[in-house]
Amino acid sequence: MKAFTYERAKSPAQAAAAAASNPASKFIAGGTNLLDLMKLQIETPTHLIDVNHLGLDEVATTKDGGLRIGALVRNTDLAAHKLVRRDYAVLSRALLSGASGQLRNKATTAGNLLQRTRCPYFYDTTKPCNKRKPGAGCAALSGYNRNLAILGTSADCIATHPSDMAVAMRLLDATVETVSPDGSTRAIPMADFHRLPGNTPHIDTNLAAGEFITSVVLPKPLGGTHFYRKVRDRASYAFAVVSVAAVFDASGGGRFAFGGLAHKPWRIETADAAASQGPTAVAEAALAGAKTTPQNAYKVDLTRRTLASTFAQKGAAA
Ligand code: SF4
Repeated sequence: MKAFTYERAKSPAQAAAAAASNPASKFIAGGTNLLDLMKLQIETPTHLIDVNHLGLDEVATTKDGGLRIGALVRNTDLAAHKLVRRDYAVLSRALLSGASGQLRNKATTAGNLLQRTRCPYFYDTTKPCNKRKPGAGCAALSGYNRNLAILGTSADCIATHPSDMAVAMRLLDATVETVSPDGSTRAIPMADFHRLPGNTPHIDTNLAAGEFITSVVLPKPLGGTHFYRKVRDRASYAFAVVSVAAVFDASGGGRFAFGGLAHKPWRIETADAAASQGPTAVAEAALAGAKTTPQNAYKVDLTRRTLASTFAQKGAAA
């Protein structure tokens, strides 16, 4: 690990200002991804801004009937929160399907959104990777890409976003609240928070330099029946090969978001509109434009089948 200096942030705005004044700095909270990346010298910040003591660890109801989740709420606490379990079950289930208990105890809401891809070449500094080093090339395109993306890819990167939590938040139309270095605040819809790779795969989100996440807001509960179905290579402590987040209402409508398929949580409104026609129609809409490799083409069928089993589970629950 490279040497770095350290400071403890005094407020969200001060943390943002400190980050903007030093482009080689990073925020650190749980550190469950960043510390691994620093040990591998994939991330080499010269300065760490510890944001653990900013009091952003509350879950509170909003005046609109939704929920404001502090950026530092740990994944374990969020999954177990009684209002999340009751009103946003898809989020609780997505969180509990991620990582391990120990990691969930440390990982924060904001850190979960900001975690980097698990593309193996991103972590292998002997191989070219446009996300790690812009312009270097992409070893995955002609290499081992079985777990990589089939939607929204580019000629520069076919990585997936690894978060389960973010898929549920996209389904729920969450909003990410931030503070900028000048103290101004803004709210970013989850749909616009993560980016597709395009020709800038090294940029994962639409956060500006120094911009600091303070909370995530969930709209008022959708009601309905919630599912998070995750397919992975082993029963626990593994990232999604394909995941389906779904909420069905009593009249046969539904909405869907997908993990393991793209550089960001994948949600297509035409898939929601097809809910009453069943899983085949939803899959057709969700997978429109899919671009596969010989190794990851199986994800098309796997998505169809995961949707079919989610609909079957819904039928059994009715
Ligand atoms: Fe890097 Fe993206 Fe290519 Fe993986 S898919 S090697 S993250 S550029």
